[in-house]
Amino acid sequence: MNPTRPIRTPADLVAAGLLPQDRQGEIERVAERYAVAITPVMAALIDRREPADPIARQFVPDAAELAVSPEERGDPIGDLAHSPVEGIVHRYPDRVLLKAVHVCPVYCRFCFRREMVGPQGLGTLSPEAMDAAFAYIAGHAGIWEVILTGGDPLVLSPRRLTAITERFSAIDHVKILRFHTRVPVVEPERIDASLMAALKASGKTVYLALHANHPRELTEAARTACARLADAGIAMVSQTVLLKGVNDDPDILAALMRAFVEARVKPYYLHHPDLAPGTGHFRLSIEEGQRLVASLRGRVSGLCQPTYILDIPGGHGKAAIGPNALRPAGEGCYSVSDYRGGEHLYPPRR
Ligand code: SF4
Repeated sequence: MNPTRPIRTPADLVAAGLLPQDRQGEIERVAERYAVAITPVMAALIDRREPADPIARQFVPDAAELAVSPEERGDPIGDLAHSPVEGIVHRYPDRVLLKAVHVCPVYCRFCFRREMVGPQGLGTLSPEAMDAAFAYIAGHAGIWEVILTGGDPLVLSPRRLTAITERFSAIDHVKILRFHTRVPVVEPERIDASLMAALKASGKTVYLALHANHPRELTEAARTACARLADAGIAMVSQTVLLKGVNDDPDILAALMRAFVEARVKPYYLHHPDLAPGTGHFRLSIEEGQRLVASLRGRVSGLCQPTYILDIPGGHGKAAIGPNALRPAGEGCYSVSDYRGGEHLYPPRR
């Protein structure tokens, strides 16, 4: 049966036919440690007859999450090392993250901030902490872009979002607001006129980075939500996590990137999965990732090519790790691979 309210507990999962009753006990142990939530839209998308369903794999807790390997860490991308004040991460000179809220409409089982999000997570910034975060942004003239993330900032009501976005109007040096969210896919009914108005701030360009990992997530309702956003003048880019058992397949990846482009969402980042605790069952090797990225070349339009990215553990930032097309070949030449794997010298030797 498909629920009409979000699933939040192992008992809810059993009632929704997403967990056999005899596994409820082990999943209770996972749920004590990491938050659980699945929206009705995502629950309806899960094929109960398919044990390896890629939507279920992203949201239904698994006992494998209790296995933590030595290289995994609670803060895999090093947010805390670059947090000058609560709620701000300032890793690069021209941009900051503003983490206003640590709640999400769904809790992804591979989440890189799983130790920070959820009901037991870092919560919502207090008014005093928000004042301090804005004072920091206003006081650093080099900040050109603010990335609103969390958590998912679009869980906030339009009124609370407006209270945040309006404050940017008074900070001239901030030109770009970028919202990272899953809401247009997992709760598309929330993308209405009042929410879209709340994303805008006078004098700022607004981008929305949509997180989706499988083409089935781009439902008719999600595409309608994207169309509303695009028609409202909000530019959209995508972010996807490369996940074993979800999208580690050339055809699935190609279909996902095409679905984004069809929905006016430009493919942007394909993240190598981070070393978050209890997520080893999702990770594939960088070599496997590079092969998958190479498989997109030539097969699908240039519009459909994301950048394959590793967030270097320890807070060292992002590095593009796509297949290396150019290799030194001596005498000032490079060897370049075409999309069929053929090798060519550039400049060509006569
Ligand atoms: S929506 Fe983002 S922050 Fe929230 S659980 Fe998923 S990956 Fe983590």
